Amino acid sequence: MRQNVTIIGGGITGLTAAYWLRRRAPDVGIMLIEASGHLGGKIGTERFEGFVLEWGPDCFLSRKPGGVALCEALGITAELVGRDPRYERTFVRRHGRLHPLPAGLSGMIPTNLDALTHSSLLSAAAVERIAQEPDLPPQMENGDESVADFVTRRLGREAFENLIEPLMGGIYAGRADQLSLAATFPQLRQLERKHGSLLKGLTQNQPAKDEPAHPPFVSFPEGMQTLVERLVTQLDGVEILLDTAVSRIEKSVNGYRLAVMGQSPILRLHSGQVRHLQSQAVILTTPTFVSSRLLAELDTGLAAALADIPYASTALVNLAFDEADVPELDGYGYVIPLVEGSEALACTWSSRKWHGRAPDGKVLLRVYIGRYGDDDVTAYDDGRLLSIAQNEIRQMLDITTEPLFQRIIRYPRAMPQYNLGHLDRITHIKTKLAAHPGLFMAGAAFHGVGIPDCIVSAETAVEEVIGQLPHYKGTL
Ligand SMILES: Cc1cc2nc3c(=O)[nH]c(=O)nc-3n(C[C@H](O)[C@H](O)[C@H](O)COP(=O)(O)OP(=O)(O)OC[C@H]3O[C@@H](n4cnc5c(N)ncnc54)[C@H](O)[C@@H]3O)c2cc1C
Repeated sequence: MRQNVTIIGGGITGLTAAYWLRRRAPDVGIMLIEASGHLGGKIGTERFEGFVLEWGPDCFLSRKPGGVALCEALGITAELVGRDPRYERTFVRRHGRLHPLPAGLSGMIPTNLDALTHSSLLSAAAVERIAQEPDLPPQMENGDESVADFVTRRLGREAFENLIEPLMGGIYAGRADQLSLAATFPQLRQLERKHGSLLKGLTQNQPAKDEPAHPPFVSFPEGMQTLVERLVTQLDGVEILLDTAVSRIEKSVNGYRLAVMGQSPILRLHSGQVRHLQSQAVILTTPTFVSSRLLAELDTGLAAALADIPYASTALVNLAFDEADVPELDGYGYVIPLVEGSEALACTWSSRKWHGRAPDGKVLLRVYIGRYGDDDVTAYDDGRLLSIAQNEIRQMLDITTEPLFQRIIRYPRAMPQYNLGHLDRITHIKTKLAAHPGLFMAGAAFHGVGIPDCIVSAETAVEEVIGQLPHYKGTL
């Protein structure tokens, strides 16, 4: 009997898992089950009257291997585009005005002290404090530390609040005083241990780097959905069920029994009906609070460990304007430190950051709202989210006209938080999971929230599945 694997979730993790499984094990039957009618999960692009509006991520990092490697496998690297070099500037909102991000950041860490002295973002005392970093003794004890504690200890409070916290906040929509350094930026801790200092480590002994093949942040002319579309065209033979949600997973004699609900024509399933499917192996790529629910009866301990990972809710407000109603925007946008006390996290000038995101004479902006620990902004109505976004751009960019149109996207519990102890939580989950051969997990909650991390986690899960498949041979 043919071996079969079911992938739950049709985000980038699930689609990548389907793609690699199809390539690595072409004789295995693959079914992908997605609760919504859309493939791509958090990734989604709307193309509307010449605008290219991102509903979620607007790019991925090329230096992390997973994303570009997948594009190479799909044969689409020639389609990758970088940010528009004409506007290569980012700002930080501080004390109610915009300051250019100082030059010479390595990742988020400032290494060019000269550039810092000319920056309006940091006081002379803050720059002096950063300059002392190489002389501070390293802390060699083991144990997790928050990003806030680490950065403040090494570079001082002001550098943390004005510079590093807003850059980091944009990635995780998180609280730096709760985020685990070991889980989010382990390379910073390693620099301290190896070189005794971040600045020494970043400026000394750096091997000469070859010219990178791609710009640091990449997307596609028609938006991130292109990645999903190209992936999907290479999933021949994968049975994809849309509008179908898995509601429970149980053990069965030959693997797992999945309860599914939805409106799948393939399963002849109508709304409200439940059907059961058998699968030898299952890859869960759902958010961990969903996976927890699905596994609640199979393994209460595993379900509890999965439910322990917190998530932040965020909302995005895309706004379109006539260029004549907007001041000159010379940059990619700005980030907003927590200490500014705003519900907005950042404002991206999308049609400056990416060429071709708005028709000639029009401008596209987007405001990110909500961070972990604040009120759940996805519960706000459209009027309130729009008003937060409009207040933000009124204050900072002096835009007072009504937008031509807006798109408001809510992401309830979207961003897993790698809080203190995260790596221990993941180890605990993996240990529990090992008691269930044929059950695998991948996705943003484990070893990185970025798209390349999700892609790598899918590839790892596929290798694990393939490693176990021979044990299932002939058992169905
Ligand atoms: C607003 C925002 C901006 C971001 N920006 C960037 C960026 O610029 N660059 C970057 O690299 N990363 C970015 N990220 C992070 C990145 O987009 C995500 O971490 C990544 O897309 C997650 O992919 P995934 O497949 O693991 O999960 P998801 O995309 O969440 O996919 C999970 C899928 O499972 C489905 N599902 C849920 N329950 C069930 C069920 N019971 N049965 C069947 N299916 C189910 C869901 O419908 C969903 O499609 C951003 C995230 C957000 C929210």
